[in-house]
Amino acid sequence: MSITVRAPAKINLHLGVGARRDDGFHPLVTVYQAVGLCDDVSVTPSPGWALGVTVPDWMDVDAIPVTGDNIVDRAARLLAQHHGIASQASVSIAKSIPVAGGMAGGSADAAAALVALDRLWQVDTSDDDLLRLAAELGSDVPFALVGGTALGTGRGELVEPVPDRATWWWVVVPSAQGLSTPSVYRRFDELSTDTPGEPTDARAVLLALSTGKPEILAGALHNDLESAALDLRPDLADLLELGEGVGALRGLVSGSGPTCVFLAEDADAARDVAARLSEHHDVVLVTNGPVAGTHVVTYA
Ligand code: ATP
Repeated sequence: MSITVRAPAKINLHLGVGARRDDGFHPLVTVYQAVGLCDDVSVTPSPGWALGVTVPDWMDVDAIPVTGDNIVDRAARLLAQHHGIASQASVSIAKSIPVAGGMAGGSADAAAALVALDRLWQVDTSDDDLLRLAAELGSDVPFALVGGTALGTGRGELVEPVPDRATWWWVVVPSAQGLSTPSVYRRFDELSTDTPGEPTDARAVLLALSTGKPEILAGALHNDLESAALDLRPDLADLLELGEGVGALRGLVSGSGPTCVFLAEDADAARDVAARLSEHHDVVLVTNGPVAGTHVVTYA
């Protein structure tokens, strides 16, 4: 038996970050959108545990932790523990989501692993339990399960779908060098000493989504982590300016970065912007959203 499960990357259309709490977490109000850049996790039965990773030629395979430290190992152990069974499978991750790029690629793999192993082990985990286990694995993992467009609160782990009937076109420019999310939050704390406890609300983005008009969404996109990411990686400001100069409606650092995303008017405009950015950057991807959350693609 072989089961392949696909999980999407996310873009934060709105990322409001409140002051660091005593427990070390930052409260968030975010609007996630799942986009068509996806990782696949395939599982087959095995008497032990084995994990392999394949990557596209532009990605550095050494940036991805091997067995033991991969988030997929943690997802498997957590699910196995929950059901009181042994964590046994042969697992293969096919990456397409930039690593340490602010698009929640590790979270997508964890979500895909939960769903794939639930099927392989035939343990019928309830949706509520899957969401709870996902939240234990990371703040972005529940959204990777749900997909679409959703409001995230708490640490981002409490997700509630929001209506989004349009298709939005994005140009994605990953960076050869990743940024660690904790280091971006540290810089955020250093740069903004008077951050209010309550994160900025997402009203403008939610309203913009309801219009279906890309030029209105472009004006509403918001990322409180952007200045911290730009402070750590000043080259990204040039990239954002370049993208907007060649026709993107708006450029934005994706989550904690360093991936930059550019909203385009439509599919043709996205391809034009991508072609112009390709003159300066090796890897430029075109995608759209919202797309489905974690789902089974083959079951054989
Ligand atoms: P987020 O936006 O959720 O903060 P990210 O997209 O910036 O995350 P990830 O690609 O999820 O970053 O990777 C963060 C770190 O997690 C990596 O630097 C890597 O060491 C570790 N990691 C563990 N498992 C994986 C995995 N399956 N894929 C990618 N990174 C992984």
